Formats: sequence, C-alpha cells, structure tokens
Amino acid sequence: MAWGLLGASGMDLWLTLRFRGSSLVLRRSFPPELAFLARQLRSLDGPEVPPAERICTAHVRVTPEQADGIVTWGRMRGVDGRTLLASATFDERWTSRELLDAAVVELVRAPAVEAPAVVGRSQSHLARWSCSHCDRLRLDQVGPLEPVLDEPADVELLHRARPELLLTDAGELIASSRLRAVFEAQGLATRPLVGTRSFHQIHVVARARLVTVPPLETHGPVCSGCGLAPLVRAEGGGLSDGVLVLRRPHWTVARPLPPGVALAWSEQRIGFAAAVHGGPVHPMGAPVDLALHPGLFAAQGAHVLLASPALACALSDAQAGGLEVRPVHRAGAAAVEHAPRAASA
Ligand SMILES: [Zn+2]
Repeated sequence: MAWGLLGASGMDLWLTLRFRGSSLVLRRSFPPELAFLARQLRSLDGPEVPPAERICTAHVRVTPEQADGIVTWGRMRGVDGRTLLASATFDERWTSRELLDAAVVELVRAPAVEAPAVVGRSQSHLARWSCSHCDRLRLDQVGPLEPVLDEPADVELLHRARPELLLTDAGELIASSRLRAVFEAQGLATRPLVGTRSFHQIHVVARARLVTVPPLETHGPVCSGCGLAPLVRAEGGGLSDGVLVLRRPHWTVARPLPPGVALAWSEQRIGFAAAVHGGPVHPMGAPVDLALHPGLFAAQGAHVLLASPALACALSDAQAGGLEVRPVHRAGAAAVEHAPRAASA
C-alpha cells in the first residue's frame, strides 16, 4: 500500500491538521467523538516555546462526517481569539473501481514515490524556440529517454516491492516491462529506454484540453510575443470561519477522451518557469541545443496525464503501484459531487 496501489478498496480521506496550543491542553479539550485525535497529536515545538504559541499536527484517516466534526470543533476560539484548529488539508485517495463510470481520470504520482531523473534530453528531444519573446520551446521526442533508475540495468523485475509506474517531472510515463501487455491491450505503444530493459516508456499521442476553470489558473507575466501566461495548478480552499481548509480541486476537461484512447496529455503545460523577455530575442523556429541550456527543458512545465478509467482499472487489476488516480470533471456534464461533504470552505 505504501506505493499507492491503484486498487485499494474504498475512497480514503486523510486529513493533515495543525492545531494551536500544547498537546497537553489539546488532548484534554477534544470531545469524546474526536478523542481518537489525541493519540495522533505530535508537537512541533519544544518547551522553549510558550504553550499558547505551540503548534501540534496530526495526520489521520477519517470519514467525511468525522472531517466535518473536526473542522466544526476546530473553529472554537481560545482565549486569544484564534481558532484551535489552524488548518486542515484534505487528501482524498480514490480507487480505479470507484471512478469506472467517469469519462476520464487523472494519474498522479503516489506520495511516497519520486519522479525519476531523466538525463540526456538533448539526445531524446528536438527543441525549437516557439516564440521570439519568451523561452517557450516546441519539443519533439526523437529518441529514447534515459531515466536514472536505482536498480541494476538489464535485470528483469522479480518482485513488486518497488513502484512499477513512474511519472517523470515532464509527465512522461515509465512502466515496468511486466506491464507492457496491459498497456498494449489498451492500444498503447511502448518504446525502449536507454540503460534498462526492465522499464519502458509508454507512448502518449493523444491530447486533451483542460478548461480554464479552477484549479487551472494563470500566474505570472503574459508574453507579448505569443500572448501566453504561465499556468499553475491552484490549491483549492480558503478560510472557513478562521480555519484554513485546503483541498485539491479536480481538473476539468473540455471533452472526454475519444473512444479507444486510453492515455492523453493535457494540451497545456503546467508550471512554465522560463524567461519572458521584453522584446524579440530568439529566432522563432530555430533549433535549441538543450545541452547548452541546462534547465530549459524542466522550466517548460509538465503535461497532466489523463487516462481512461478502463486503463486505470487494468493497472489496478495488475497490482501496479506508483500512481494514484483522481477524478476529473467534464465540462458541461452534470455536476457530480465527488468530494466528501465535509467542511466546504
Ligand atoms: Zn512567448
């Protein structure tokens, strides 16, 4: 489970809570129905911090009703007028089966899994300036990726104690060769990697358009050349009667994936962080040597990886760990309330 198996049963809701006050005082003040929080409290501060200034955290798996109860109780204010609960971060974990009726799902890295580093981008990608005024690139993969995997090369995977689904920082999907047949059965092609035969890259051809509603937001300067602004994923939430409630909103896509398409990248890249210039500085369309511009590839941001629920379920059935699945809204579709009812900000 530590690798975020797609196939765990039931939507899990985890809360990361930050309380104000000493653990001693907090433990005494929980009502009976929230007494289970006492065992999970961890004080972040030592005795050098006055009790009223201390912060305690707890990371708990709860039901939506319990989450509601915690936030409601946490709005109570201490003698200093501040709420007992400073913040509550919601983390929802879904299973592929629960989202089987969805039009499309998002695949994200499981919390315990890191993105594999990829080297040699100047070999794997052909880059061209896509704008004269900013450092946006048009990128085409022309060769195999070279990921740095912490395992001996050319050894078949014998056990499943490590994640078999890896997502690079650019949104490329790398999967254990054991899963090749699962992807191919969904109509997807795989391509080899440099330096290993135990993993393959899954070829993503299709594109899906994210709708410009939260969490898709612009943040940063608009380029006067191409008119594009950097896109970010906004964290959802806000103050709810003094308690900061954070929960990650789901993407909205303009259209479901076309029939037969199991995997797609968002048209938009999230997190562009390269330079935007005051005037024209690049010959638009000219090739860029990524070896001479370290960091420029990473600064382009990443595609969001979207999948058909059928692919997510097939990976879940194959007990493939490393990714988690999230709901995705569809524009114009009747609003489906995926989120627990608790504590809407
Ligand atoms: Zn531009």
